[in-house]
Amino acid sequence: MIENSQGASDTIAPIRNRINWITIIALIVFHIGAVAALFMFTWKVFFATLVLYWFSIGLGISMGYHRLHTHRSYKCPVWMEYLFAICGTLNLEGGPIFWVATHRIHHQKSDQPGDPHSPHDGAFWSHMGWILFGEANHSNTKAMAKFAPDLAKHKFYIWLNNWHWVPLTILGAILYAIGGLPMLCWGVFFRVSFGLHATWLVNSASHMWGYRRFVTRDDSRNNWWVALMTFGEGWHNNHHAHPSSARHGLAWFEFDPSWLTMKLLSALGIIWDVKVAKLHSPVVEEKMAA
Ligand SMILES: [Zn+2]
Ligand SMILES: [Zn+2]
Repeated sequence: MIENSQGASDTIAPIRNRINWITIIALIVFHIGAVAALFMFTWKVFFATLVLYWFSIGLGISMGYHRLHTHRSYKCPVWMEYLFAICGTLNLEGGPIFWVATHRIHHQKSDQPGDPHSPHDGAFWSHMGWILFGEANHSNTKAMAKFAPDLAKHKFYIWLNNWHWVPLTILGAILYAIGGLPMLCWGVFFRVSFGLHATWLVNSASHMWGYRRFVTRDDSRNNWWVALMTFGEGWHNNHHAHPSSARHGLAWFEFDPSWLTMKLLSALGIIWDVKVAKLHSPVVEEKMAA
């Protein structure tokens, strides 16, 4: 048991004063690589990076870790679940069990004591402070599995969570072999750094700036520019009001590329049981499985 800043005992109480050296050094290296990429621009590597960004953030985080693995907002074949989870690891955001557990805790405690990344603890904390100075649970598969028992049943997810950095390392080696340093700097360092900030903006900006359509017990907002960077994840007030909806952009002007992709996959019969909230659906903040 750990005492949190509010003095309440809780096994998931946030730690705020660690210095996660491995994470800090990795992030410094990735950001240096991202800046170096700017001096090696070619259209070829740029478009290759865009495709990789869609695979990693679009399919991996938005359609995979978030809408499928955490919220089970649609059903798909198990090979597709596994594929999306591998795509998710390509972002240096940890493995599926860590990501899903952290996000389920966020929904349970959003903007309350115990939320791993709330702007109530400071904008910087909610953006990246919690990764740099908070609990380092990326490889703590056993503790995180309590919040993701559905995933922990699969040996594959346990393995992937423990070895979450392996697919990205393999991708880096392949990209370097294909296109040398420019392809490595763009396809790995720039893409990962940009994708991390885009994802973190959902936790920081989309809990501070934007409009609130639904009265939820947190401060979630709908933020169009975060949505553009994240395949629709910025429609975060809609999402907190309807966590299990596969569709996050509910109004016609709320562009949600992940939802459009799911609509297509559903029409083709590749995914099914797609849960969809409507613009005027009453708020449902169901308790997440834990
Ligand atoms: Zn949130
Ligand atoms: Zn969510």
